[in-house]
Amino acid sequence: VRTAAGEGDRGVSTTQAAAAEGFRAVYGAAPEGLWAAPGRVNLIGEHTDYNDGFVLPLALPHTTVAAASARPDGMLRLHSGGADGGIVELRTDDLRPAPGAGWAAYPAGIVWALREAGLPVGGADVHYESTVPTGAGLSSSAALEVVTALALNDLYGLGLDRPRLARLAQRAENAFVGVPVGIMDQTAAACCTEGHALFLDARDLTRRQVPFDLAAEGLQLLVVDTCVQHELGDGAYAQRRAGCESGARALGVRALRDVPYAHLPEALARLDDEPGTGPAPAPGTGPAVRDLVRHIVTENHRVEEVIARLDAGEIRAIGPLLTAGHASLRDDFAISCAELDLAVDTALAAGALGARMTGGGFGGSALVLAERTAAEHIGTAVTKAFAAAGHIAPRIFPAVPSAGARRLA
Ligand code: ADP
Ligand code: MG
Repeated sequence: VRTAAGEGDRGVSTTQAAAAEGFRAVYGAAPEGLWAAPGRVNLIGEHTDYNDGFVLPLALPHTTVAAASARPDGMLRLHSGGADGGIVELRTDDLRPAPGAGWAAYPAGIVWALREAGLPVGGADVHYESTVPTGAGLSSSAALEVVTALALNDLYGLGLDRPRLARLAQRAENAFVGVPVGIMDQTAAACCTEGHALFLDARDLTRRQVPFDLAAEGLQLLVVDTCVQHELGDGAYAQRRAGCESGARALGVRALRDVPYAHLPEALARLDDEPGTGPAPAPGTGPAVRDLVRHIVTENHRVEEVIARLDAGEIRAIGPLLTAGHASLRDDFAISCAELDLAVDTALAAGALGARMTGGGFGGSALVLAERTAAEHIGTAVTKAFAAAGHIAPRIFPAVPSAGARRLA
């Protein structure tokens, strides 16, 4: 299948060389080391993380590479080949949460979070190169955070394990950058392994590597990046999140994760009798609570069903579950959009085994599971359908389940 120019498939070695060279050009010396962290897609389990539920992301071959050296003077100097402007210089003992401060807030937030945790981290010079598309729902922000955390962990001999680095990265994004993300993205960037999807229980942070060797089965997972992100996003996220919380309250559970799939009909019947949660919300305020509850409970169940099939080596059998997940996000959670629906419908009509939107919604990317021999045809069909509908051209590339964060040199 046609891939996005220069991304992912160009291989991490090219990005690694560019990062080392960039570091030399910016700071005038060789870096002490090079580290990588990937972008991710979520195979299934959407909007479940803040309901204490289940997610199943995989790492992409697209990576952010950091070339870095420690500095003894407590200065933090940051430079990115992917950002406008020059070197950002900060004092590590003078970092304050600064929502809206630009790209350097992500890595600066890592230093802040490490120091807040009482860890002996000092200054550094860092230069980044990345093949993770930004703002496409592929979590370039977590790649940037986790690669920074891993580099500082090694440079300062902190000895932190991957899950701890992920939690510190989440803390940085929540408290320093000011974005209320869950723990999935950072955990995926830190803990994924090649040829696997990563099961994560967002309540107790239990993890398990689930076999997902697409190539061995003659399959391909395509990412269709719609290259659009409609407004709505932030307000809709807050509305969905608040709605899920009021659903849990009305049902007397800690989180919607605690509503068993087998009890869904009773739960929905109960919500119909509960004021403010029934089927008639004010127009324009988003779906009714009962619809949000239905999505979350069925979605957690779909994650478990997908894992059961992957454990049994039946990758093709997850197709209908992915497609059912899309219908649930479109109809119950109401966070799809014309571009995502068109990508999914066109891919299925062209012979895909399954397809769904992935990520927060209202744009970003869709996932398509296809026979490798059919992938090219499906990609072409989607591209043509977008042109015919007057949408901007999507970027389509294969998602090969890849390694999580690591030291390269
Ligand atoms: P996503 O994580 O889905 O890509 P976000 O809005 O959460 O989207 O994060 C994107 C932001 O992260 C960018 O706008 C930029 O500030 C920052 N970012 C990510 N990768 C890089 C990079 N390699 N260099 C500089 N900034 C980056
Ligand atoms: Mg992000």
